[in-house]
Amino acid sequence: MSLFTSSAAWVTDEHRMFAEMAGRFMDDALVPNVETWIEQGIVDRSFWQDAGTAGLMAGSIAEEHGGVGGGMGFDAVTLYEQSARGDMGWGYGIQSIVTHYIDTYGSEEQKLKWLPRLASGEMVGALAMTEPGTGSDVQAVRTRADKDGNSYRLNGSKIFITNGQSADLIVVAAKTDMSLGAKGVSLIVVETEGADGFRRGRNLKKLGMKANDTAELFFEDVKVPMTNLLGREEGQGFYQLMKQLPWERLTIGIMALGAIDFAIAETVKYVQERKAFGQRVMDFQNTRFKLAECKTKAEVLRSFVNDCIAKLEAGELDAATASMVKYWGSEVQNEVMHECLQLFGGYGYMTEYPIARLYADARVQMIYGGTNEVMKELIARSLDV
Ligand SMILES: Cc1cc2nc3c(=O)[nH]c(=O)nc-3n(C[C@H](O)[C@H](O)[C@H](O)COP(=O)(O)OP(=O)(O)OC[C@H]3O[C@@H](n4cnc5c(N)ncnc54)[C@H](O)[C@@H]3O)c2cc1C
Repeated sequence: MSLFTSSAAWVTDEHRMFAEMAGRFMDDALVPNVETWIEQGIVDRSFWQDAGTAGLMAGSIAEEHGGVGGGMGFDAVTLYEQSARGDMGWGYGIQSIVTHYIDTYGSEEQKLKWLPRLASGEMVGALAMTEPGTGSDVQAVRTRADKDGNSYRLNGSKIFITNGQSADLIVVAAKTDMSLGAKGVSLIVVETEGADGFRRGRNLKKLGMKANDTAELFFEDVKVPMTNLLGREEGQGFYQLMKQLPWERLTIGIMALGAIDFAIAETVKYVQERKAFGQRVMDFQNTRFKLAECKTKAEVLRSFVNDCIAKLEAGELDAATASMVKYWGSEVQNEVMHECLQLFGGYGYMTEYPIARLYADARVQMIYGGTNEVMKELIARSLDV
């Protein structure tokens, strides 16, 4: 299994070596622990640190900020190698997104302060946009950041926040001007340690992605230095979010591809061994056709994902194309999980078989990162010019 297509021009020998190393790390440190993390509803903190020590989170960060100065392709590899082992619980996708907010919009001082700690796994990051009253419509957030001397006072609440229980650094979308819509939104970094008035709700129980900690967050007069604003001036948050969402959406397409590859491999193994009516389930024409369809969908998605990574590396991944890879990848992922689970028969419905988990994990991919309906709106907008 590999993220790369044979013709992908963005892939170098370094990416291939990195993929081998990341794959070995996942086999040794992730695979044996997934069941435990699912039971406890959170990934062990030591895994974040081990992943940092192995260099898995440093690929795209500049050397002077604690990374190795590669590019986004390295983060793509880490995410693929994780999901191709059947895990969606480790919240590295969000860590990578947060890292790139700071890398793109942070001052030199902010980068020096936070990037090395995110790369090493000392800090876990979260991105808090969604609120109980608004999800798709980000400009309608009600969390407010009022000026108070050299600080902001944050008030409001966020919901469904990935890495919400473990996060030490949270990029919060808040209104610095309540009278404005999109232009009133700013991104403010909250360091949770010692933040008076900051509180985490319970670890939310979910249909899938059970190893990930997802939380509601509360801010009651939380004092944050004004120097934690991302970007030179207030009111840039909505624009910053829109500029970074292509990477968030591509991460969903990459994770979809990894999960699909894993599901097909597991299903092929199963149907080769399982017998019905005196023959292997693999030998029924229906099985062969279903698997052929799944494999074709995987290869089409792989080409599209590789094309999107190349565009991202070149600074050319536009909002509509990123919406397509998120929408298409997650739809195909759900179709493939549906077909693969069916080929397991009753065993596919038992949670001890990974296909049941993959089926449940896939569903949210159509919802978070912007729902697929919102993706279609963005795609349609690019046609209606
Ligand atoms: C497991 C999980 C993890 C998440 N992680 C994060 C995170 O880390 N950070 C974060 O900020 N958020 C996170 N989210 C929130 C997620 O991004 C939102 O749930 C999502 O954007 C949808 O918002 P909503 O739930 O408020 O739905 P709503 O916006 O209320 O949408 C409800 C329905 O209306 C449809 N709809 C809305 N607007 C339109 C439109 N214009 N046209 C057509 N249909 C429309 C939607 O498609 C959906 O079907 C997470 C969610 C989950 C479930």
